[in-house]
Amino acid sequence: MTEPLMATYKRLPVAFARGEGVWLWDTEGRRYLDALSGIAVCGLGHAHPAVRDALCEQAGLLVHTSNLYRISEQERLGAMLTEMSGMDRVFFGNSGAEANEAAIKLARLHAHRRGVENPAILVAENSFHGRTLATLSATGNRKVQAGFEPLVQGFVRVPYDDVEAIETAAANRPNIVAILVEPIQGEGGIRIPAADYGRRLRALCDRHGWLLICDEIQTGMGRTGRWFGHEHGGTLPDVVTLAKGLANGVPIGACLARGAAAEVFGPGSHGSTFGGNPLVCRAARAVLETMVAEDLIANAADQGAYLLGGFRAALSDIPGVVEVRGRGLMLGIELERPCADLVGQALEAGLLINVTAERVIRLLPPLILARSEADRLLEGLTALIKRWLSDA
Ligand SMILES: *Cc1c(COP(=O)(O)O)cnc(C)c1O
Repeated sequence: MTEPLMATYKRLPVAFARGEGVWLWDTEGRRYLDALSGIAVCGLGHAHPAVRDALCEQAGLLVHTSNLYRISEQERLGAMLTEMSGMDRVFFGNSGAEANEAAIKLARLHAHRRGVENPAILVAENSFHGRTLATLSATGNRKVQAGFEPLVQGFVRVPYDDVEAIETAAANRPNIVAILVEPIQGEGGIRIPAADYGRRLRALCDRHGWLLICDEIQTGMGRTGRWFGHEHGGTLPDVVTLAKGLANGVPIGACLARGAAAEVFGPGSHGSTFGGNPLVCRAARAVLETMVAEDLIANAADQGAYLLGGFRAALSDIPGVVEVRGRGLMLGIELERPCADLVGQALEAGLLINVTAERVIRLLPPLILARSEADRLLEGLTALIKRWLSDA
């Protein structure tokens, strides 16, 4: 048999035929509770009528024209996103990596305009920013980088959640121009920084004239129980990147900026053929409108707190469990030992979960999660974890 797909993924032995809400059905008709949302993408769950109707309607009107022309759906979405984020302008691409590429290019151009030669961006250990060359170079995971050298230069790595380390790293580096950081590290294992981390980063950036760039590709769009993860830290970044949850699965990425950073790009500095086309922007608008209409941010905060409390009560004192942590519907259960095999066991039990950083069970359920579904997840996963720990 010739295998048509490049082997970039070690896929689980299941394919899904359809979905509805938090549920997916495989090609054999078995039902699964989706506690991963296609990796924090399908916040409104599957086959949400608002997204379906928006896509169908827009597909019948206009899908693509290119950015050589004005795109009114892009302008509408841009106005909504800038208003709700406190940013001034937005650039649309097609993925998270592209949103970060735009942010990195923006930081470099901003630096060069201000006479900084050889600009460098501070990035964190255990971070994840994407798989393109610049974003994998910014990523703090050797597995993502290995074999793709030479890496893109101009990144200085520091430990996450460590402001002193930034001060040390910056001490004799006048070429630093920005900090690129996740408000909560997702792929890195649901790492939540100290409560004052954001404020201290903001103060450092203000003191040095650096741009604070928040990679909100996973933490944004209500995932943490606020629109943006950085809101928990009480600060406003200069640049915010979004993607995953923005259009519920239709590919889109956004790089938002405010102040001087918003004025950096001009005609010719950056672009994308597909970026922000009428179809994706209409889908994203449907997502934003539905999130407001269904009060999904509050639901994410509420169900997230319920799950966090429930998992803590059930698991915190059990040997083999290191920590249960989370914010909104972004939850991690850290075990003492690598637990990737739990993913397959959960699948057999009709539960879609993920393991990241080798021993952190990651949950990113849809923001529409109802209490009965949260209970189901709580009971099902707790039983699986207990069995896995006692079998070991
Ligand atoms: C998923 C992710 C990315 C990359 O997004 P893609 O759409 O896969 O390119 C970047 N940063 C963070 C924090 C992410 O979670």
